[in-house]
Amino acid sequence: MESKMEKIISLAKRRGFIYPGSEIYGGLAGTWDYGPLGANMLYNIKEAWWKKFVISRDDMFGIASSIMMPEQVWVASGHLEHFTDPCEGKKFNTMFKSKAGALKDETTDVYLRPELAQGMFVNFKNVIDSFHPRIPFGIAQIGRCFRNEISPRDFLFRVREFDLMEFEYFVREKDWKKYFEYWKKEMRDWIKETGIDNEKIHELEVPKNELAHYSKRTIDFQYDFPFGRKELYGLAYRTDHDLKNHKLDYYDEETKEKFIPHVIEPTFGAGRTLLALLDSAFAEDELVPPGRDEGGEKRVFLRFKPHIAPVKVAVFPLLKNKPDIIKKAKEVYDMVRKEIQPAVFDDNGNIGKRYRRQDEIGTPYCITIDFETLDNDTVTIRDRDTGKQERMEIKDICFKLRKKF
Ligand code: ATP
Repeated sequence: MESKMEKIISLAKRRGFIYPGSEIYGGLAGTWDYGPLGANMLYNIKEAWWKKFVISRDDMFGIASSIMMPEQVWVASGHLEHFTDPCEGKKFNTMFKSKAGALKDETTDVYLRPELAQGMFVNFKNVIDSFHPRIPFGIAQIGRCFRNEISPRDFLFRVREFDLMEFEYFVREKDWKKYFEYWKKEMRDWIKETGIDNEKIHELEVPKNELAHYSKRTIDFQYDFPFGRKELYGLAYRTDHDLKNHKLDYYDEETKEKFIPHVIEPTFGAGRTLLALLDSAFAEDELVPPGRDEGGEKRVFLRFKPHIAPVKVAVFPLLKNKPDIIKKAKEVYDMVRKEIQPAVFDDNGNIGKRYRRQDEIGTPYCITIDFETLDNDTVTIRDRDTGKQERMEIKDICFKLRKKF
C-alpha cells in the first residue's frame, strides 16, 4: 500500500504543486521545482508571513539582501570555520563557493548564503541611519538560501536550495529572555494561523553540546512528518555574536549609551512549511450523496485554510453543451475573479469529477451555474470539507465568500 508520503508526493506532481528539479535530464538531487499550484501556495505562505511579521508591525524593517556575499562576511560570522557537516571522517563545509568577476586578478571569492541572517547584520547600520529605530526592533527578510547538503532527502524537507523567512530582533542583553518567550508565542500563533496541525508540533530544547556556533539557547519547533519528528522552525538566541564580529554597535540617542545589542532569531523554512501544510491538510473520506446514508465515493481532499489554498474558488457551468449556462457561468466567473483570486473556470467532465479535482487541490469553494440560475440568478456554492451546497444570489457571492474567508 502507498504510504502517506508517497501519496503526497504523487499528488503534488500530478496536480502541479511540486516537480523534481531538471527532471527531463534525469533530475538533480536536492532540487525540486514549484509548479503553478505550489508556486501560488509558496507565495501565499510568504505573503502571510510578511503581513504578520513585517508590515503589520512598527518595529520590523523588511529588506531583501544579496544572495552572494564575499568571503570576509563568512569569516566574521564564523561560517567559514564552523558551517560544516562531518563527511567520511572529515569536516565538509556546506556553503556553495564561487568566484565573482571574469578577470583573473579581479575575481572575488564569494559564497551563496546558507542563511539569511548575515544580510540583516551587514545592513544593520544602514537601517539605523535611514530609520533611527529604537531598541527593540527587528530586520526581516524572505529569500533563497543554499546548502550543499551531503544527503538531501525526504522530498522538500532536506534540499540544497530553499526559501527562508527570518528576522533578527535586536534587544538589550538584560531583556533577551523576555523576548525569547514573546517570539516563541508568536511562532506558535503563526503555526495555528497557517493551518499546520498543532498537535504534531513539539518544542525541543536543543542540548548545549548541539547548539550552533553562534547560539546560547535554541528551541526547535519539530513537526511529526510522515518520515519522523524533525525540525520545522528554529528560535535561537544568537547573543551579540554577529554584531560583535562585524564590529557593529548601537547608540541610544536618548540615554546616550553605546552598546552591542543581543539578537533573538526566529527562522521559518518556507519549503518545510509547505510540506507540513500538505501533510496537515491531507485527508481522505467518503462523501455520501444527499439523501443517502451510505455508498459514498472515496475522495482525497486538502483542507487548506483559504488564505493558503492555491486556488480560492472554482466556477462551473453544470453542463457543457448549454450555451445559456456557459454564458452565465462566464459572467459569474468574470465577476468573482475580480475580487477573489486565484479563481478558475472548469467545464471539463461531469460535475462530480470537477468537484473531486478541486477537492484534491484544496479549493475551498466551488460555484455551480445550473438551470435554476437562468430563472432566478442564484447559484450553488459547495463547501470542500463537508460537500454541502448552499444556494445564494449571484450579487451576494463575493460578499459572502469574503466573509467565509
Ligand atoms: P537541520 O538540523 O534540519 O539541518 P538546521 O538546524 O541546520 O536544520 P537552521 O540552520 O536552523 O537548520 O535553518 C533554519 C531553517 O531552515 C530550518 O528550521 C528549516 O526550516 C530550514 N532548513 C534548513 N536546512 C534546510 C534544508 N536543507 N532544506 C530545507 N529547509 C531547510
